[in-house]
Amino acid sequence: MLRAPVIAGNWKLNHGPSATTEFFESLIPRLPEEIRGTVAVFPPSVSLSAAKRALAGAGIRLGVQNLYWEPSGAFTGEISPALAMDAGATLALVGHSERRHLFGETDREAARKAWAAIEAGLTVVFCVGETLEERDAGRAFEVVERQFEALVGEDGPPSPEALAVAYEPVWAIGTGRTASPADATDMHRHIHSLLSRHYGAGNAGLVPILYGGSVKPENAAELLAAPGVDGLLIGGASLDPVSFAAICGMA
Ligand code: PEP
Repeated sequence: MLRAPVIAGNWKLNHGPSATTEFFESLIPRLPEEIRGTVAVFPPSVSLSAAKRALAGAGIRLGVQNLYWEPSGAFTGEISPALAMDAGATLALVGHSERRHLFGETDREAARKAWAAIEAGLTVVFCVGETLEERDAGRAFEVVERQFEALVGEDGPPSPEALAVAYEPVWAIGTGRTASPADATDMHRHIHSLLSRHYGAGNAGLVPILYGGSVKPENAAELLAAPGVDGLLIGGASLDPVSFAAICGMA
C-alpha cells in the first residue's frame, strides 16, 4: 500500500546504474526520515538493483516502469513481475501515456499488466489520462472512465490496498503545460467517484490518486494543496535530486 501524500519519480529512459547510485547518495541526506516512506522512484529496470543497493533500507519505495504479464518464457526483452521484484521493485507503473501512445499499449494490455503485477504482490500505480483532442471534444471524463473500467473488467476491481491511480493528462506530460489545480481537482473527484462505485465510499479512500504532468518545484505546492490530490507523479523534475527533494519536502 502507498502512503499519501505520495511523491513518485518516473525517470523514464534516464539514469543507468552509476547515475542511479549517485542520485540516491545525493537524495537520501536531503530527505527527513519521516517522509521517506511516502517517496517512490521508478528507475529504468536495469538500474533497479543499483537503486536497491544504494537505498540500503532507507525506506524509499522502488518500482518498475513497465512489465509483461507472463511469468517467464520466450518473450525477448520483457520483464515479469517476479523479475522486477527480485531486482528490488515493490511497485509497478502501468498504463503510462508513453506506453499507451508511443508503444500502442491498449486498455486491455494495461489491465493485464496491472493484474499480473498485483497478483505477484506488487502495488500498481495505474495511469489514466486524456489527450488534448479528447479534452477539447469534451470527452476527458469518458476516456478516463474507459481506461479505469478496463482494469476492473468483468471480475471486479483489485484490492484497494494494491492500487494507486495517477491522473496524467497527456497534453501536460513533458510539455511544460500543467493542468490547473482546479482541473486536477475536477478529474480527481471523477476518479474518486469511479473508485467509490466499485469499492464503496469508505474503501475508495484507500486508493491514493496522484496528479502528474509537468510538475516542478514551482507548481508542486499548489497542486498538492488541490482538493482530491493525494500525491504527485513527476517525470523531468524527478531526475535531479535537489528539485526532487524540494518537492518531497512540500508534501
Ligand atoms: C511522467 O512521465 O509521468 C510525467 C508526469 O512527466 P513530466 O513531469 O516530465 O511531465
